[in-house]
Amino acid sequence: MQFESKAIHIGRQVDPNTGAVTTPIHLSSTYERQGDGLYINDTMYSRSKNPNRRSLEECLTSLENGFDTIAFSSGMAAITAVIESLPTDKPQRIILPVEMYFGVKLLLDKTDIGRRFEFEMVDMTDLKAVEKIINEKPTGMVWIESPSNPQINITDIKAVVALAEKVGAVTVVDNTTASPLYQQPLSLGADFSLHSVTKYIGGHSDVLLGAVIAKENSEMLESMRLHQANKGGVPSPFECWLALRGIETLAIRMRAHSENAMAVAKFLEAHEKVSAVHYPGLETHPSYEIAKNQMSGYGGLLSFEVVGGEKEALKVANSVKMIVQATSLGSTHSYIEHRASVEKELTISPESLLRLSVGLENAIDIKADLAQALDNI
Ligand SMILES: *Cc1c(COP(=O)(O)O)cnc(C)c1O
Repeated sequence: MQFESKAIHIGRQVDPNTGAVTTPIHLSSTYERQGDGLYINDTMYSRSKNPNRRSLEECLTSLENGFDTIAFSSGMAAITAVIESLPTDKPQRIILPVEMYFGVKLLLDKTDIGRRFEFEMVDMTDLKAVEKIINEKPTGMVWIESPSNPQINITDIKAVVALAEKVGAVTVVDNTTASPLYQQPLSLGADFSLHSVTKYIGGHSDVLLGAVIAKENSEMLESMRLHQANKGGVPSPFECWLALRGIETLAIRMRAHSENAMAVAKFLEAHEKVSAVHYPGLETHPSYEIAKNQMSGYGGLLSFEVVGGEKEALKVANSVKMIVQATSLGSTHSYIEHRASVEKELTISPESLLRLSVGLENAIDIKADLAQALDNI
């Protein structure tokens, strides 16, 4: 099946009890034990297995051509599970990109994860620097995020995976900003692909959910399964159901996000109050060729720098009318955010930079809103 068909059919079936075409939501926390001591479909208790969660996992596995998927209550719960599942016979040293989702930085800075593992960060767009740091000391895991957030850096996934493989390190790609439609990390060689399902996959800013998709069966995958059932950070059946509903339109939404983002990027590039636009679909992006090779589309996330600094950037963010000034990305609504003032002292985001998650409104209205906001500086 092609992507669009899998997105609608995999993990679902017409309900054998009622003929319902859409999957029922299974809220029951517990399941009846049969006379033989076994359970129907192995489902005993909702924390260890739930039909809606399993449907979502099966669908995501098929969308990224993986072996299996483990869903968690948020993207951060999925990230924590991946890190904590690094086998103890591997070096407990993890290499991450300098520019990555801010929540991962907070996880390392504010929780015990940062003390239990050794972390080092590197500019992942610089392959020489990546090779050097991977080989400096024994490395257990290499973390990739591409396109990165918010500066939209592109990492050459195949090349970094090859460097990690040489030293036997596990590779993980945070594929959230690209979406399963436009980037397939497992086909590019990565061991795990990870999503904040909260973003494009859910797609409507009404679900908090995360998932890890594995390329093959492994001790690490088994460990994440145990993490899910026993540490218990599982998503609710309703949220799994909402995510699956979002997935049905994922492909057409992504195409519309991309089309809108390209129109907005070109508009911003030509605007006199804008000094830079970061969008992988623009030929002016420094890694345009790599993006073109490993992605089949560029999605709705971009960032731009205004002429001036923090004051001017905040003025624009505070002046939009239809676009919402909010964190997050990948929704039907367009969001704008000044990341430097959100991230404060830990930030590496330029003061003049605004992140824009281009939604599914008409591009004419998005451009008009940005035009009137830019007029204020
Ligand atoms: C939002 C996000 C996360 C974290 O996901 P939550 O669902 O908010 O926990 C991780 N990585 C990226 C790239 C994100 O955008």
